[in-house]
Amino acid sequence: MSVEFRDVVKRYGTATAVAGVSFIVEAGTLVTLLGPSGCGKTTTLRMIAGLVLPSEGRILIAGRDVTNLSATQRDVSMVFQSYALFPHMSVLENVCYGLRRSGQRKAEAADRAREGLKQVGLAGFEERQPSELSGGQQQRVAVARALVLKPSVLLFDEPLSNLDARLRRQMREEIRELQQRLGLTVVYVTHDQQEAMAVSDRIIVMNAGRIEQQGGPRDLYERP
Ligand code: ADP
Ligand code: ADP
Repeated sequence: MSVEFRDVVKRYGTATAVAGVSFIVEAGTLVTLLGPSGCGKTTTLRMIAGLVLPSEGRILIAGRDVTNLSATQRDVSMVFQSYALFPHMSVLENVCYGLRRSGQRKAEAADRAREGLKQVGLAGFEERQPSELSGGQQQRVAVARALVLKPSVLLFDEPLSNLDARLRRQMREEIRELQQRLGLTVVYVTHDQQEAMAVSDRIIVMNAGRIEQQGGPRDLYERP
């Protein structure tokens, strides 16, 4: 589903984190928020999630004004940079957790969780503990956990920053492949231009709380 920001501002006290930002993420596309630390990427992502409310402006998801809705009313899920898996639960239980909380019965939740694990290439890992998995595998569990909720928008907050360089390249290919295969709408935050170019349909370049430029990866970075 599409995401639209109309003149969104976020202030913390007297400091302005996001200084009037407008953009549209078309349904079924992956759009990256790219820029240096402190430019307002995470605040923007959290406003899509409903974890932070804007000081001014409107936010629409699938054409519906969600500006004043809480996170649980928005049908959006987020993958964090630290995977935040529950260490005492199995992989399957981790993926089931959100489904159970949203009221699904145990058997249905387990079926959907197995399907989600299959989608990220982790069939057969259901009964493992997170500590038995590699960093890349743990990140895939986190992606499965977000996916099974069938969100209208999936958000990634610097998802690869805890991985080594080789795994970062592999995981960004996997995320891109999954997004295209399932037709997901994704907003992806990174400070890494190479990563943004590898995964994105469009890149929104932020600086000091504003959008500096936006466009396709090739339009922004490969034109002479
Ligand atoms: P980025 O994700 O690009 O690193 P952030 O959105 O985290 O940027 O932060 C943008 C600006 O807002 C920074 O100056 C940051 O210090 C400030 N900021 C972020 N969160 C808060 C907060 N909860 N309270 C006060 N200032 C904040
Ligand atoms: P990120 O790595 O996602 O950019 P940060 O390390 O900048 O996050 O911030 C971690 C937490 O601290 C976040 O919850 C953010 O909102 C908050 N925060 C960031 N900057 C400030 C600030 N200047 N004052 C208060 N809280 C802040």
